[in-house]
Amino acid sequence: TFESSVDFSQFKLNSDGLIPVVVQEYRTGEVLMLAYMNEEAFKETLKSGCMTYYSRSRQSLWKKGETSGHFQYVKALSLDCDNDTLLAKVNQIGAACHTGEQSCFHQSLIKKEFKDSNPLKVFEDVFQVILDRKINPKEGSYTNYLFDKGLDKILKKLGEESTEIIIAAKNPNPEEVKYEISDFLYHMMVLMAQKGVTWEDITRELANR
Ligand code: AMP
Ligand code: ZN
Ligand code: ZN
Ligand code: ZN
Repeated sequence: TFESSVDFSQFKLNSDGLIPVVVQEYRTGEVLMLAYMNEEAFKETLKSGCMTYYSRSRQSLWKKGETSGHFQYVKALSLDCDNDTLLAKVNQIGAACHTGEQSCFHQSLIKKEFKDSNPLKVFEDVFQVILDRKINPKEGSYTNYLFDKGLDKILKKLGEESTEIIIAAKNPNPEEVKYEISDFLYHMMVLMAQKGVTWEDITRELANR
């Protein structure tokens, strides 16, 4: 897949002869895991286009996903300033962690209150929950109620919510319009899920205009 012109000997290896690899989801930048490569793993990664590591516990080559199916397709590799750490941007299939968590770094130790660095991520998060409801219906879920009722019900709600935005916008209380736009956006995302349209489709369309 990739040209194997990258010279492994330029890497500064640790005392075990390995180079650590920080792995990120290429779309979001989420840090997924840390693993190690030897030269063979690095070459195999370039050749196959799938992240392949050296397993320190098994002392053997480890193609990530070989048993779980949770492969990592390489999107980019870069080397840090002092040549001792690789950064991989990957398309992660399924979960990166063998516990089933998306990222290995799910054991929170300390956390201060902070603003989400990308508030727009909530669109993706809510949309993911909506898509998940479609596959794994949940007892008492309003989203499942909408899916069960079907397209006409979703469209009726969307029409109602858009009318409510207009009414709220005439209202001097700015809180109202906030609630109604949120209601509208949620129902719009249910429609997107119903029609198989993703945020990627929408953002690509907008960016290309
Ligand atoms: P996989 O490569 O996803 O098919 O998983 C094979 C085995 O590799 C698992 O049973 C774990 O022992 C190990 N493993 C998988 N993912 C990770 C990870 N992110 N960190 C550490 N070990 C892992
Ligand atoms: Zn540096
Ligand atoms: Zn470094
Ligand atoms: Zn893990």
